[in-house]
Amino acid sequence: MSTRRRRGQGGVTYDDVTGTLRERTVKAMRDPALAANLRTAGTAWAEQRQVMEHEYGFNEMRDRARDIRRSNIRELPALLTELQHNVRENGGTVVRAADAAEACRYIVGLARARGARTVAKSKSMATEEIKLNDALEDAGLEVVETDLGEWILQLANEHPTHIIAPAIHLNKEQVAELFRAESDGEVPDDREGLVAHARTRLREKFAQAEIGISGVNLAVADTGTVCIVENEGNARLVTSQPRIHVAVMGMERVVANWDEAAHILQVLPMAAIGYDAANYVNLISGPRRDGESDGPEEFHLVIVDGGRGALRGSEFEEALSCIRCGACLYSCPMWRNVGGQTYGSPYSGPIGAVITPLFEGPSSPGSRDLPFMSSLCGACGDACPVGIPLQDLLVKARERSRSPEKTKAGWAFRLWSLMWRQGITYRVTIAAWRLGLRIRGKDGWVRRLPGPGAEWTRVRDMPSRWPPRR
Ligand code: SF4
Repeated sequence: MSTRRRRGQGGVTYDDVTGTLRERTVKAMRDPALAANLRTAGTAWAEQRQVMEHEYGFNEMRDRARDIRRSNIRELPALLTELQHNVRENGGTVVRAADAAEACRYIVGLARARGARTVAKSKSMATEEIKLNDALEDAGLEVVETDLGEWILQLANEHPTHIIAPAIHLNKEQVAELFRAESDGEVPDDREGLVAHARTRLREKFAQAEIGISGVNLAVADTGTVCIVENEGNARLVTSQPRIHVAVMGMERVVANWDEAAHILQVLPMAAIGYDAANYVNLISGPRRDGESDGPEEFHLVIVDGGRGALRGSEFEEALSCIRCGACLYSCPMWRNVGGQTYGSPYSGPIGAVITPLFEGPSSPGSRDLPFMSSLCGACGDACPVGIPLQDLLVKARERSRSPEKTKAGWAFRLWSLMWRQGITYRVTIAAWRLGLRIRGKDGWVRRLPGPGAEWTRVRDMPSRWPPRR
């Protein structure tokens, strides 16, 4: 896991992801602006999503989406071979990268070979995952994020807080402040004015960029087409304006044909933003052809494994079905309270808590506690448009974790289980518990428990009679 993020222009060194997960969580929970911004975003999503579920029979759509994605993952090697073949037939180049280093090496090498100086990027979680911006900036390139949210984060030196709404944790006053720090001229206060300001600044960069880099929402194997879903139109410019287009995808993002793609492309915006269609769906099947008036001269598709291949056939295989809609984040009571940056990894929320330790290894210090960032309430599994049983995967991920949390909790539960298996020790512990509560209690409540119980009473009181009176 990265401890330092360096993005943006001028080789600026950016903020550290510091502290333990617990420390970051406590810090986030003490930030009233963050709480208000996340609440606004989460409420808007929940309301819109409810309308969608009601109008479109979302549950039936989810069943089909789940079947499609499971079949895609089962057939993954064959689909990737077909995709690779068809992209090449269309005049594109395909590179299979085993890991982040290999993917970055290829893209940096390409930029150097073509003498590129400026790269325009559209939003892409895969490039976040492989830390492509760092690699490009280390090679002396200027990287410009052109998605409004990502550009805001680039100015703020921050990680995305959400898969599809990266700067949702910031309000317009905070955004205006960032724009003012970046700009010599006047910056308006209102939302429309801020968007117009960003548009003007970013348009200049499209004209300069020699390379455009995008992510991929889906790749269709039987035509060799990549689909990029967006709401701002910047991905359309990134993929058509510069001379070279590089698309970066996780290897699992492939579907067999257009029938499957059409269904997933319908389910994705419904789950993600509660609308029945995204503003733009870009379909790209290779570079510009003879007689075409626009499009890039070169198209490169970089397919990253990054630990995904090893998940096929494992108890975590279903995690590969994810279409990165972000619905599980909005539905998660933990994420809604602390936001995605607390997780310290590109992927946050329930899906991030499952896949980050899988991609980085269960003993990776930054990721081993992540599976415990869940109340296991099951809301994430209900929200998932491809039916991933996230709560079950989180439990499995906890079993794999070598977290100190797990070790401590494991010993405590083992001891508890031993004591409560015998009637006598059960009765003794219950009597001791009741007596302890009565001694510490005042006016019917215990304000502070000692030892491990202190965590419970840090945010709530405990009734001093057990069981509590109804
Ligand atoms: S796990 Fe499901 S809900 Fe979460 S991002 Fe992936 S597809 Fe969306």
